[in-house]
Amino acid sequence: ALSPEAYRRRHEITVTGDNVPAPVTSFASSGFPSEILREVQNAGFSAPTPIQAQSWPIALQSKDIVAIAKTGSGKTLGYLLPAFIHLKRTNNNAKMGPTVLVLSPTRELATQIQDEAVKFSKTSRIACTCLYGGAPKGPQLRDIDRGADIVVATPGRLNDILEMRRITLHQVSYLVLDEADRMLDMGFEPQIRKIVNEVPARRQTLMFTATWPKEVRRIAADLLVNPVQVNIGNVD
Ligand code: ADP
Ligand code: MG
Repeated sequence: ALSPEAYRRRHEITVTGDNVPAPVTSFASSGFPSEILREVQNAGFSAPTPIQAQSWPIALQSKDIVAIAKTGSGKTLGYLLPAFIHLKRTNNNAKMGPTVLVLSPTRELATQIQDEAVKFSKTSRIACTCLYGGAPKGPQLRDIDRGADIVVATPGRLNDILEMRRITLHQVSYLVLDEADRMLDMGFEPQIRKIVNEVPARRQTLMFTATWPKEVRRIAADLLVNPVQVNIGNVD
């Protein structure tokens, strides 16, 4: 097996932060429970992608993380599989609101994340729902009332539902900003800030992005606490 340093060099992983754990270079050493590993095997995946290998142990230590890696590098499972572990640890009642909140820029991306969450948590009794615009609110509100451990949402629709006081985020302790660069490009910063104001300060925050421009750095500096930063490849 490669040393952590050799694995990072080979996969162009750079890390900054305190006491960054070694990457997990195989599913066997990932520490995920067998029901999750079975789903990974069913999907036909042979090894973690580099962003997963480095993000998982950081996320499982409950640290804040900024992960910068290009599209298609496997970022979704980079935050979803640790989210399943977080849910087991917290053991909250979903009727009291979600514990995991994932913000995503578009309906299409939010739906893909939801599909992946459902697929990989099949045997874990995790309830997951998706909130996005351009569709009636009724069914989404019903899903919230039924109880969702994980809510995947676009900032616009979640903000609408918050203003209606039909969801509470007081139980959220694992907050993901996925495709942060795109959400800011689309002008969602005000909605994101309103949403985050409803989430307790005592939480874990994970930001995933393909690029690292100054707007993303600024919101990361505001919303994350002492994050570990992981870059894959050359990022400007
Ligand atoms: P990103 O969010 O970085 O653009 P995705 O999370 O959408 O990337 O993943 C891209 C594709 O790679 C998806 O089809 C996903 O199922 C697949 N994938 C994720 N993890 C692995 C893995 N460890 N091995 C092989 N394929 C994977
Ligand atoms: Mg993605």
